[in-house]
Amino acid sequence: MFCPLCNNVNTEVFQEVNSKLYYKCYNCDLIFLDKAHYLNQEEEKKRYNFHQNSLENQGYIDFLSQLINPLKEFLKPTFQGLDFGCGPNSVLAQLMNQYGFSCDFYDPYFFPKLVKNKTYNFITATECFEHFFEPKKEIELLISLLKPNSYLGIMTELLADESNFKNWYYIKDPSHVCFYSLKSFEFLCKKYGFKMLYTDKKRVVILIYQGV
Ligand SMILES: [Zn+2]
Repeated sequence: MFCPLCNNVNTEVFQEVNSKLYYKCYNCDLIFLDKAHYLNQEEEKKRYNFHQNSLENQGYIDFLSQLINPLKEFLKPTFQGLDFGCGPNSVLAQLMNQYGFSCDFYDPYFFPKLVKNKTYNFITATECFEHFFEPKKEIELLISLLKPNSYLGIMTELLADESNFKNWYYIKDPSHVCFYSLKSFEFLCKKYGFKMLYTDKKRVVILIYQGV
């Protein structure tokens, strides 16, 4: 089985949970769901429509603040940002606007148009890495949108305890297909020329893109 993040074949069945097979890659430490269990586009879009968040939802704003607060420290007022995989509502981009940063947004289902040839000083990707069917392809798309010395802020729940994988709430969402550890992000740094600037070791990772 090829790893969808690093393309390596050094993968093995990791666990079977509720008759779904999960593989682990021993090259980049990604755990990934067997493709046979991926939702189709319609089912996936339906699930995303459940996630109707807005600026009125303080709980969601607090959640995003876990990334926005540390990220803001690295940004300058002139910076152009992009919220990648924003879902049906562009809450994070609106929050960034409130903080004085210009921020576009993109989502393959809801706002599928990227501004042609535009690159960014910072990109946020909250709760989307775990949905990537083809993480290698998506990360390479992200990189193509980043200027040199730009910031990539990611939120995805990090797998801390493999022994508890079966009971981990994060795998219960049927649209979650890829699970990363800090080691996976260290792999990405090495491969693509990022440096890790910040992590809470739970769900927030901020990288700077320096190129290879
Ligand atoms: Zn891998």
